[in-house]
Amino acid sequence: MGYNICKECGMLFMQIEMHNFICPSCQKKEIEEISKVTEFLRNNPRSTGTAISLSTGISTEKIKKWIIEEKISINGNLGLASCKICKKPVLNGKLCEQCKSKFLMEYNNAGIKDAEEDAQDRKGSMHFIGKRSSL
Ligand SMILES: [Zn+2]
Ligand SMILES: [Zn+2]
Repeated sequence: MGYNICKECGMLFMQIEMHNFICPSCQKKEIEEISKVTEFLRNNPRSTGTAISLSTGISTEKIKKWIIEEKISINGNLGLASCKICKKPVLNGKLCEQCKSKFLMEYNNAGIKDAEEDAQDRKGSMHFIGKRSSL
């Protein structure tokens, strides 16, 4: 817990949650805006991000952020890149955070497995050499 600068309005505020980067009043505003977008989407389910932005007055940047945070889902992805594995929208890069960490974990595990197999191979050939030399 500590003080943080709000990413929206630049005000100093007491940070209570680790992943909270906006002040309580902006947070309240954001919740209101999200419900406005959700309401709009309920009435106009096939709307694109641009249409939502024009009708609600909320910037497409914010809509993008909410798509990534999975607070809303819309038709199209506002030019966001999509994760190469799960197709979830991502701001940058080729993989979303979840797939990236999963990929890295599998990659690391594969590395360890390879090293183990290598060691086994070496043991095997050593055994073979030993057997041959005893002949
Ligand atoms: Zn704020
Ligand atoms: Zn993914």
